[in-house]
Formats: sequence, C-alpha cells, structure tokens
Amino acid sequence: MRMTAIRPSRALLAALAVMAASASAQTPAGQAPAAPAPPDFSKVEIKTTKIAANFYELEGQGGNIGVLVGPDGVFMVDSQFAPLSEKIAAAIRQISDGRIRYMVNTHLHGDHTGGDENFAKMGVTIFSRDELRARLAQPPPGPNGAPAPRPAPAALPMVTYRGPVTIHMNGEDVHLIPVPVAHTDGDTLVRFQVADVLMPGDYFRSLGYPNIDRNNGGTLKGMLEGLNATIELAGPNTKVIPGHGAVTDRAGLMAHRDMIVAIRDRVAPLVQQGKTQQEVVAAKLTADYDARVPGGAATGNPDRFVGQVYAELKGAR
Ligand SMILES: [Zn+2]
Repeated sequence: MRMTAIRPSRALLAALAVMAASASAQTPAGQAPAAPAPPDFSKVEIKTTKIAANFYELEGQGGNIGVLVGPDGVFMVDSQFAPLSEKIAAAIRQISDGRIRYMVNTHLHGDHTGGDENFAKMGVTIFSRDELRARLAQPPPGPNGAPAPRPAPAALPMVTYRGPVTIHMNGEDVHLIPVPVAHTDGDTLVRFQVADVLMPGDYFRSLGYPNIDRNNGGTLKGMLEGLNATIELAGPNTKVIPGHGAVTDRAGLMAHRDMIVAIRDRVAPLVQQGKTQQEVVAAKLTADYDARVPGGAATGNPDRFVGQVYAELKGAR
C-alpha cells in the first residue's frame, strides 16, 4: 500500500498559527494548548462598506481590507485568508468592473496575506516591505523543529521597498509609508490622500488590546512611534481603518496611544522592583480599561499585551 502525505495548505497553517498564538498566550505556563479547530471559512460572508467616493472597506474573517476603485483599476490593501479569495474577488466585482491591479500587505500575518498567492495568480502585483517578503520566504520551523513548508514563489510580493512609495491611480495618491519595528518589523501605513483614509494594519487596532509580535521584530517603542506618526498625518475628517475592529478617527488613534503609554507606565515600576512577568500579569494592571476596550478581556487578551510590555521593558534595563 502506498501512503500519500497530505500537506495542509499554507492558509490553513497560517490560520492555525494565528489561533495557536492566541491560545498559547492564554494557557498557563507548562500546559500544552489544545489543538484549535480550524475556522469554517464556508460560513464567512464579506461585508462591503463605502468609506469615500471611490473607496470601500471589506470585512470577512481576518484583517480589514481596503479597496480603491476607478478607471485605472483596483488597488487593494491586504488579502485575509486564502479560502476567502474567491468571495473577496466577487465582492470587489460588485463595486468595480475594473481589473484588480495592485495589492499592498500591511504586514506578514496570515490573516492579512493568506490570499496573496490566489490574487497573484489572478494577475495582481503585490507590494510589501523588504522585511515582510524575507520573513514570508523563510517561515520559522514548527514547534517540534520540523521545517515549515516554503511558500510558492507566486505567494511572495513581487515589488518590495525600504523607503516610501507613491502609487498614482484613479486620481488618488496612494502613499506606502514604512513604519519600522511596530506590530512587526515589516509594517506599512497606507495613506489615501484624496479619500482621506489611513490604513495602519495591526500596529493600530480598535478591537482588543495591542499585539506586539516580538518574534517578528515588533517593539513597544516602534508601535508608539508609529501611532504618533499616524496621529500627525490624521486630519479632522480622516477615516482610520484599523487592522482589526471598527473604522475610527484621529481621536481613536490618540486614545489608543494614551492607553498604551498608561499601561507601560504601570508596568515600568514593577519591572524596576524586580517583579516577575507572572507577578506583573497577575496584578491586572489593565482592569480599568477592560470594560472600555472593545472585545476587552474576553478576546482582547490584556495578559498577552502586558506580558509583551514587560518583556520589552525588562530587556531594555
Ligand atoms: Zn497582525
């Protein structure tokens, strides 16, 4: 009898990795997290919201997607999970009869890049930071040390950059602005000047607590610098589409920045006193924010965030 190895799709692995990461953060030390059930993508519906004259937000499962439409074709921000690509492309056909020409990835996580290969095969040219492409090309080994499957070449961004890039289409100036070492080390802020829209990816979220992905080069310091730079660019009418959560504005950015600073300033003295990470997490320093952060203690995972802040402050001493 011949055995055939079944190779799980990259998107599924990415989805599981996202779930495993959140599961492990909630698991007490020393206990192996239970294997998460894969999400049922067949049940996901794509919701389209008009944000400006020729700009839309798509929600499904994973990161928020931005879509600029017009006579020059479609420009999109992020791709969610691979099993959703057909539904996402169908939703875009409802708002544009133009070709999808370009996509930018705000950062490498699978809930933002999982569909890249499918869209590349539809002829979409994908842009990203150099760092993002390098990390996607060299996925880290699995928990048991087994090498991770390499992505197909088509799954990797075709155009990469280190400095800012401007794309001129549909009467819009689309600015791709590198944001160093924030949520990850490959983040991009996408600014649509005419539509007056900012898309920061996951260094800003209006759902749950921040996530500093230190394993992928993210830092607390860079996240605060990125938020401050984004606040500088936001005007009174700017629509801010976060990586996850509802569309918000400059005041939403500022409140989020202020919360991060406040929590950092509560963690710092405990680090100075030599407390352990477990002691600092157990102090429940976010308690007064838990009710105010949408998705707060239930899905927002304050313990993960406090642990990340602790790790950075401890390392900086
Ligand atoms: Zn992310």
